[in-house]
Amino acid sequence: KKLVSIFIPVYQEEGNLRNLIERLDSITDVLTKFDWKYVLINDGSHDDSWNRIKELASESSKITGIDLSRNFGKELTLTAGVEYARRSDAVICIDADLQHPPELIPELVERWCDGFQVVATIRISTDKEPLIRKIGSRLYYWVMSHISNVFMVSQTTDYGLYDRKVVDAFCQATERGRNFRGIMDWMGFDRTYVEFKADA
Ligand code: UDP
Ligand code: MG
Repeated sequence: KKLVSIFIPVYQEEGNLRNLIERLDSITDVLTKFDWKYVLINDGSHDDSWNRIKELASESSKITGIDLSRNFGKELTLTAGVEYARRSDAVICIDADLQHPPELIPELVERWCDGFQVVATIRISTDKEPLIRKIGSRLYYWVMSHISNVFMVSQTTDYGLYDRKVVDAFCQATERGRNFRGIMDWMGFDRTYVEFKADA
């Protein structure tokens, strides 16, 4: 069986983790064609997140917890996750706060089985999203496309699947002041996009 690792950056998410694992289980328990691992990386949370991770890990052999020594920010936390999970056949990156619906995972995996090495996601903006956030997000992509030669598709998110080949290449990148998705987009590979509606 192919191994798919789901890695999850965690900062101040004590109230979301159990719910997240239950939602993930309800998806992965059905996709028995694959072996599944969840890697939860605590990014120096000041709440009870790390204790929750330890509890959850003691209840399921699927779950591994990593406790970073302080808060490094999401970009480096994602890097730690990818490096930890690099021996998997594919990795899936998903937020811990349930804004990225786990129900999309079957589609991500299906596209991977179709031969795509990167399955990226595009967030269709929700009505609940504050206007300032919508403007900020569009401005970000506009500025990025004008100051760099990396093409980033507007409204893509960090939620996505990466084949092991992509992960191996990513692990050779040495930038430390990094943008996770910027490096992923810059590297190329065969990619496709899946749309989703972000939850509140
Ligand atoms: N996160 C993290 N370190 C941080 C800030 C956030 O690991 O310093 C995690 C957070 O727990 C979540 C993901 O990164 O799983 C996205 O964070 P957030 O929801 O704040 O970002 P947004 O939804 O605004 O993009
Ligand atoms: Mg969020």
